[in-house]
Amino acid sequence: MTAVAVLGAGISGLVAAYRLRRTLGPSARILLVDDADRDGGKLRTVDIGDVPVDVGAEAFVARRPEMPALLVELGLSDLLVRPSATARPLVRSGGALHPLPVGTLMGIPASAESVAHLVDAATVARIEAEATTPFRWTPGHDASLGDLISERFGPQVTARSVDPLLGGVYSGLSVTTGVRAALPGLAAALDAGATSLTDAVLRARPAPTSGPVFGGLRGGYRPVLEALAAEADAERVVTRVGSVTRAGSEWTVDGVGVVDAVVVALPAPAAAAALATFPTLADRLGAIELASSAVVALRFDGVDLPDNSGVLVATGELRHDGEPLRAKAFTLSSRKWPHLADRGGEFVRASFGRYGDAAIVDEPDGVLIDSARRDLADVLGVDTAPTAAVVQRWYGGLPQYRPGHLDVVADLEAAAAELPRLELAGAYLHGVGVPACVAVASAAAERTAAALA
Ligand SMILES: Cc1cc2nc3c(=O)[nH]c(=O)nc-3n(C[C@H](O)[C@H](O)[C@H](O)COP(=O)(O)OP(=O)(O)OC[C@H]3O[C@@H](n4cnc5c(N)ncnc54)[C@H](O)[C@@H]3O)c2cc1C
Repeated sequence: MTAVAVLGAGISGLVAAYRLRRTLGPSARILLVDDADRDGGKLRTVDIGDVPVDVGAEAFVARRPEMPALLVELGLSDLLVRPSATARPLVRSGGALHPLPVGTLMGIPASAESVAHLVDAATVARIEAEATTPFRWTPGHDASLGDLISERFGPQVTARSVDPLLGGVYSGLSVTTGVRAALPGLAAALDAGATSLTDAVLRARPAPTSGPVFGGLRGGYRPVLEALAAEADAERVVTRVGSVTRAGSEWTVDGVGVVDAVVVALPAPAAAAALATFPTLADRLGAIELASSAVVALRFDGVDLPDNSGVLVATGELRHDGEPLRAKAFTLSSRKWPHLADRGGEFVRASFGRYGDAAIVDEPDGVLIDSARRDLADVLGVDTAPTAAVVQRWYGGLPQYRPGHLDVVADLEAAAAELPRLELAGAYLHGVGVPACVAVASAAAERTAAALA
């Protein structure tokens, strides 16, 4: 009987196990290994009262096909929800709230006009002059987004427009995020001879389309995780993954057993430890850094939130009492998601922790809840005690796509391709978002099934 070990039961591992079951049929042995007794990894839905609320990922890019297609396959299309069309995001910068700039590429403006309300007059003048300021880019070169943007447009654009967005996507900062991995379209435009950053952004900016970019799930991610686990029908093994070794045509996963194939869907450091006997893989995996974060989900009763989807916080932002604003973002969940609007109460997610600021994640629950409350009072004037609060810590929550990341991934995939019936999947490869994880895990499962055929 064919046996496959899928290591990691986050969305990547669950999707791999589900696809393997569909391809290999009911007789195959599929072992789904995770040291947590809960499936989902960075996807977790908790009940606040009787309202399911996501405390990890809470959305996905619905313009990509993977999630809508997966929901159709699982018979769960009716769970797909869209954010409110009227609730727009805000940026807190310089002690005030501003609309999130529109018409940008991940916060990088194509004209001074789009960020004029966020930056000073000198920065506006600098952006206006950028297109005619001599520019050099070596095709194939990589750089941090922070260095590129600050050099061309000035640091205010980085701190007030780009960092707030990157803090959400990668828990990162523009100085820790590489152009090529984070914005491949921008890198392509630069390589193709864009004459300035403005020109490159204009070339790379996606054409405006109607309809929402994002989707979410009524009931949170939980029903999708449950459906994937049920369909995968895998033997669930709760253990820390030991070393993965090969002898002849067989693979041995320490503590799990001998199998014909392995899909490693672990975060990069855990994958590095499991694959320690393969130095090319282990070295590259071990070099990928992670950022930790914490989410504080709050319920309020008897308060009135503004009709905005959330507030992103500029880096270095202070509260009005002069203390640092600790939260990096607030999602006004019951304004953003219509399906949460009529559940009674208001739901808010406060997010903490950017790359290099891991200490905040270790703070006691009470301190994080208190920080969320104080920051929310300062930012939105909501100075009421929450009626419920849940703290979720995400140690190593998100991999950092530093400059040179695509080369690391190419090396990793070349080294893995040398090892028959071993596949890699996970958020460190081709995008941290759930749709990218689904795509990568599906491809890994397909290659595994093909190799076993
Ligand atoms: C706070 C937060 C908000 C996010 N928001 C969004 C969002 O709105 N939209 C979006 O698209 N993406 C979002 N993301 C990103 C997305 O959720 C993740 O990139 C994705 O879920 C990662 O899935 P994965 O299966 O690759 O990894 P993981 O979810 O990390 O799964 C890996 C699994 O491996 C297990 N594991 C680790 N080490 C070991 C070991 N040694 N032995 C055994 N098991 C082990 C873990 O327990 C875990 O279950 C967010 C991420 C975070 C942290």
